[in-house]
Amino acid sequence: MAAIELAEEGGFEAVRLRDVAAHADVALGTLYRRFRSKEDLLLAALELQVTSLEQRFAAQPPAGGSPLERVHGFFRATTEAMCSRPHLARAHVRAVVAGGPDSSQRVAAFHDRMEALIARALRGRDGTELLSELERRVGQALLRVWFASLTGWASGLHGVDGIVEDTRSAADLMLGSACRPTGNMFESGREIRTNGREGLGAMKIVIDYDLCEANAVCMDVCPECFRVEDDDTLTVLIERPGKELRGKVEEAVRLCPRQAISLVED
Ligand code: SF4
Repeated sequence: MAAIELAEEGGFEAVRLRDVAAHADVALGTLYRRFRSKEDLLLAALELQVTSLEQRFAAQPPAGGSPLERVHGFFRATTEAMCSRPHLARAHVRAVVAGGPDSSQRVAAFHDRMEALIARALRGRDGTELLSELERRVGQALLRVWFASLTGWASGLHGVDGIVEDTRSAADLMLGSACRPTGNMFESGREIRTNGREGLGAMKIVIDYDLCEANAVCMDVCPECFRVEDDDTLTVLIERPGKELRGKVEEAVRLCPRQAISLVED
């Protein structure tokens, strides 16, 4: 895309619609009909970058490790890819923060798609399910921290490592406590109550079947304990998991998009 090439060479200032039209060999009027401003054009270019990210993560979803590690990996890879073309990245930041009614829809769509990518990193796999309220809130908060830090980088306040570090710290604060047995933030509405008895096997899995939609997220995470039957009902195979399964069950609790699983003191 001509706007990308011009921004890569000379940043925001270099993206003039007249030059873009000449570069792309299209009439200026044609370009104006499609894009109302250079910000609009740069946001369209940003959409292409997000599409490329989506294709990359669809082909190779963030896998392995904990949700926290996968989210770290996602932001590190995304930041490094974006900032490897610094003039273009700064032009994108300027286009996003410029605001205005013409660009608000594109900016909102950018946020939605990035939040969906963060949710995939949290889940550790690709998927088309709707985001749970908790995933949406975590994704939104992390995206805002990341973008604020990206803006700081664009202004020369810190380097690329600073963006990765800021986002990692925020993810640690949000998700780190959720990964501990007594954490309750990421399990909002699905309290994990260990009451100091963690490791003793004194926990019981309880399913709210009114909420469960049998999408098998829990089965993917912990097939030892959950199975979705051919008639689309969920069976709990081990109602009282031992400590060797505790981590997997807690992850299933966290990732259930319907918040249908509770792990309660028996
Ligand atoms: S309990 Fe949650 S994750 Fe498991 S099948 Fe039901 S909705 Fe899906």
